[in-house]
Amino acid sequence: MSLVENIKKIKDRVEKLSLNIYGKSKEIKIVAVSKYASTEEILCASRNGVSTFGESRVQDLIKKQIEIEDKLEWHLIGSLQTNKVKDIIDKVELIHSLDRLSLAKEINKRAKSKNIIVPCLIQVNISEESSKSGIPKEELMDFIYELEGYNHIKVSGLMAIGPNTKDVKEIRNCFREMKMQYDYIISKEIEHIEMKILSMGMSNDYDIAIEEGANMIRVGSAIFK
Ligand SMILES: *Cc1c(COP(=O)(O)O)cnc(C)c1O
Repeated sequence: MSLVENIKKIKDRVEKLSLNIYGKSKEIKIVAVSKYASTEEILCASRNGVSTFGESRVQDLIKKQIEIEDKLEWHLIGSLQTNKVKDIIDKVELIHSLDRLSLAKEINKRAKSKNIIVPCLIQVNISEESSKSGIPKEELMDFIYELEGYNHIKVSGLMAIGPNTKDVKEIRNCFREMKMQYDYIISKEIEHIEMKILSMGMSNDYDIAIEEGANMIRVGSAIFK
């Protein structure tokens, strides 16, 4: 299938899922993960209905942004090294991978010096796989309270990567657990936290993620294969 067909198929599927679940079309944002895509493919996608692109690596994101003159929305979805923060901070609409206090400190410091506020999602290691980054679920609430006073970071939601398994039930349980955490944080009405984005689901599991409450999905290979 072509890129354009892939996009159409995913959009139709997302629309259908959202109608099934919510009884109406709800905005579920598709982040096109372009880490394996060329600039031509990104441009083609942007002209065919996706406007937001996610990159895992800081260097790749910056390179593609320079090569592509069109104004697109860029998200950093991969783990962020503290020493790269200064390069990326004013180039992205959203960072999906805030997962430790040292990173929060650096983002806050650099954002302050540029007089900007940087929207971030807290990445949670919901599958508890040691290979994955993200803050352990048990530490999430403490981390959230520790972020008070980081006035140049706007926590806008949570991000998770599903477990690396074909077991649908296990995947579903992880996403369900994330939604519970998300709702719990909302119920706490914490002043410095704005929970509006739940970023979970990739090419192989975005339908499960949407069924469990994701309102942002990150789809790479199903678009750019
Ligand atoms: C690569 C990547 C994706 C997209 O994965 P696909 O399986 O290609 O859809 C989503 N999120 C993160 C954090 C990634 O690194």
